[in-house]
Amino acid sequence: MLALQGGVREHERMLDGLGATVVRVRRPEELAGVDGLVIPGGESTVIARLAALAGLTGPIRVAIGAGMPMLGTCAGLILLADALEDAAAGQETFGGLDIVARRNAFGAQTESFETLLDVPDMGEEPVRAAFIRGPVVASLGPAASALARHDDGRIVAVEQGALLATAFHPELTGETRFHERFLGQVRAAAA
Ligand code: GLN
Repeated sequence: MLALQGGVREHERMLDGLGATVVRVRRPEELAGVDGLVIPGGESTVIARLAALAGLTGPIRVAIGAGMPMLGTCAGLILLADALEDAAAGQETFGGLDIVARRNAFGAQTESFETLLDVPDMGEEPVRAAFIRGPVVASLGPAASALARHDDGRIVAVEQGALLATAFHPELTGETRFHERFLGQVRAAAA
């Protein structure tokens, strides 16, 4: 669990409930000891800055290149995007997903909402998704695939190899399937 800033505890609770051993990653030595990384929601500019200060940016990029499974939610999706449409001055991402993300695509914090999404890859039951100043996938490159779309057709969940990212917060609505999918990748990679 990348624990520099943002909604760390909700993810920890969910991962714990699914039987995972959860370790907080704040330094490169801690990253070296894990088999997968969850990047939480929060403020992507702040997480990126703290990661750089902690000397984690390079090691996270290396881990992504080496195929470490990662799940990013909201700010986590922004940080896993190869490019941003509207990067803040100097804002960098870890990259890995062949997408261009657009930050704050659903308006302000007060316009947060919950909705049900059909996610064919996750079975019949719709996904209850909480959007809190969430991003959107503005464009999808050939290496990434769309897992979920909002009612208006905009892409809000993507997958590429061992990387999984959602523009919404499954950890806030008791939606376990994304974390289960991530843990499946972690177990496969660690086996
Ligand atoms: N708007 C935030 C950002 O740009 C993301 C919001 C969230 O993670 N809930 O990082």
